[in-house]
Amino acid sequence: MTKQKQLDDIKQQILDDKVCPELAEAATQLVFGDGSADAELVFIGEAPGKNEDEQGKPFVGAAGKFLNEMLEMIGLKRENVYITNIVKYRPPDNRDPLPDEKQAFLPYLESQLEVIQPKVVVTLGRHSLNCFLPDLSISQVHGQPKRYKGRVYLPLFHPAAALYNGAMRQTLIDDFALIPAIIEKIKSS
Ligand code: URA
Repeated sequence: MTKQKQLDDIKQQILDDKVCPELAEAATQLVFGDGSADAELVFIGEAPGKNEDEQGKPFVGAAGKFLNEMLEMIGLKRENVYITNIVKYRPPDNRDPLPDEKQAFLPYLESQLEVIQPKVVVTLGRHSLNCFLPDLSISQVHGQPKRYKGRVYLPLFHPAAALYNGAMRQTLIDDFALIPAIIEKIKSS
């Protein structure tokens, strides 16, 4: 079975399992993920916003445009990477996802990563980081690759938080620029 078919099956499983029915009811659609099933890099955000909910794809609003620009900066396009969120339905009024909502979607996110087997999992923002590495603080570990249970995580600030904060924006750009060297190091080790 191709990796894409396996991802399609996970998406169907979320629908069949009726994960977070209240969120599903309030949202336009499931925002599962976008990009290459063979990606070396997987980006994980928090939850879809308004634009994502409308278009059915993660990171297509202002934060997504900024993410695309940073990908371009390191010579990549969206089609070369895979982008998803922890929670796959838009929370009402863009509120933060609740702990039990993150918990409910985590097994499906794990399955996505099992299929794709990326070299690096880039967590965007504290919600995403703390899903995998609950004891770390984003302000202390951003830009530092962390090896944990056979995976390499790179914690980055969330592009939506960094977009309108000059200092954080530059830090995110600087951290992003480290990605090619981190991947090369993993490949050669
Ligand atoms: N913010 C996120 O965390 N995810 C999206 O898909 C868009 C904005």
